[in-house]
Amino acid sequence: MTRRQGPSTTAIHGLPHRRPDWSPVAPPLVQSSTFTNPIGSHDEVLYTRYGNNPNQVDIARKYAMLEGAETALFLSSGMAATALAHLAMLRPGDHLVSSSWIYGGTKTLFDEEFGRFGITVTYVAPDEPRSWRQALRPNTRAIFVETPTNPLMRVLDLVPIAKIARQAGVGLLVDATFASPINFRPLEHGADVVISSATKYLNGHSDVIAGAVAGSNSFIEEVTRLMKLWGPSLDPHSAWLIDRGMRTLAVRMERHNSNGLAVATWASVHPAVARVHYPGLASHPDHALATRLLGGYGGMLGLELAGGGPAAERMLGRLQVITHAPSLAGVESLISEPRLTSHRALGPEGRSAMGIPDGFLRLSCGIEDADDLIADLEQALDG
Ligand SMILES: *Cc1c(COP(=O)(O)O)cnc(C)c1O
Repeated sequence: MTRRQGPSTTAIHGLPHRRPDWSPVAPPLVQSSTFTNPIGSHDEVLYTRYGNNPNQVDIARKYAMLEGAETALFLSSGMAATALAHLAMLRPGDHLVSSSWIYGGTKTLFDEEFGRFGITVTYVAPDEPRSWRQALRPNTRAIFVETPTNPLMRVLDLVPIAKIARQAGVGLLVDATFASPINFRPLEHGADVVISSATKYLNGHSDVIAGAVAGSNSFIEEVTRLMKLWGPSLDPHSAWLIDRGMRTLAVRMERHNSNGLAVATWASVHPAVARVHYPGLASHPDHALATRLLGGYGGMLGLELAGGGPAAERMLGRLQVITHAPSLAGVESLISEPRLTSHRALGPEGRSAMGIPDGFLRLSCGIEDADDLIADLEQALDG
C-alpha cells in the first residue's frame, strides 16, 4: 500500500483484507487455551499463555499499526505491560531514570519491587530538563516517562529526552495511556517503547483490565519470552472485547477531545472553580506544546474547587450523570479525588508540593453530550 491508511480505518480493520465467502464479519471469539497440533511438527505450539491465540494476535497487530511500531503485545493489565517492558529492558544492577510525574502503581512497582533485582531508580521532575542528563550514571540502561501526566495533564516533549537517551545509549520507554495512539504516538517522537493501559481508552468501556507494549520486533520478542514465563497473558474474551472497543477508538477520542475542551472552557469561568488543568486551555503551562504535539487535548481534566475538600465532597454527593469512581477513559464520565486514590500515599504536604491541593478533582469526560455533563456539574456545584 503506497498511501498511508487513516487511524479510524486501522482501528476497525487493521490491515484490510478481502474475506472469503460466508466468513463472519465480526471476529470469532476463540475461547480456547490450546489448539490441535500437527503430528511431528517442530513449530511453536499454539497456546493462549504464549500470546498466539488469534484474538490476542489480531489486537496486537492492530495496536502496532496505530502506534507505528514494528510489533506489539497485549498483557493482562497495564501494570503487567509496565513491569514486563522494564524487565525486558533492564538487567540486574542497572539504573533507571524515571520521571517523577508517573502513575502511583508504577512508582510503587519501582520503589518496592525493582530492588529485588538490584535495579535502582532516580526520579527527575520533567520541568527541570537539565536533570535528565545529570541523573544519568554509567549503569543507566533506560529512561521512563509518562505523558500526558495524571492529574495535572502536563505534556512532555519527548524529542529532547530521546536525544539524551540516544547519546547515552539508553532506551526510552513512554507510558502514553492518557493520550491513546489517536492523540499521541511516542515512537514518532523518538521513544523506543510505548506502554499503554488498554483498560483505558483502547478498550474504552470500563469492562476489561489489560495492557499493551509496542516497539521493535526484538524488544517485543523479549517481552513475549517474559510473558510466557511470568504468565500475565490476556484472556481471549478480554482480547475480543478490546477488539470490539478499538473499532470505535478514533470516533470516541474525537468526542472525548471535544467534551474535555467544552467542560474545561465552561469550568474555567465558574466562580466555584479556582483552577482548571487542561492542556487545551491557554492558561495551561503546556498549552503551546500540546497544540503542537497532540492530535487532541483529551478527555481528562483537573478541577480545583475554591472550597477545598468539603466543597469537593458536597459536589460529588450531588452528581447524577458523572459517576464517582477511580479509573478513566470509558464512554461514561468518571470523577475521582487524587487525595484519596492515586496520590493518597503522598500526604497533604506532598500533594500540595506537587500542585494537587485538597479539593482537587480529576474528571474523565466520557462521550455523553457535553451539555449534559456541564449541566450535571453546574447543578452539583450550585447545589
Ligand atoms: C491505569 C494506568 C496504569 C495501570 O493500568 P492497569 O490496566 O490498571 O493495570 C498505568 N499507567 C497509567 C497512566 C494508567 O492510567
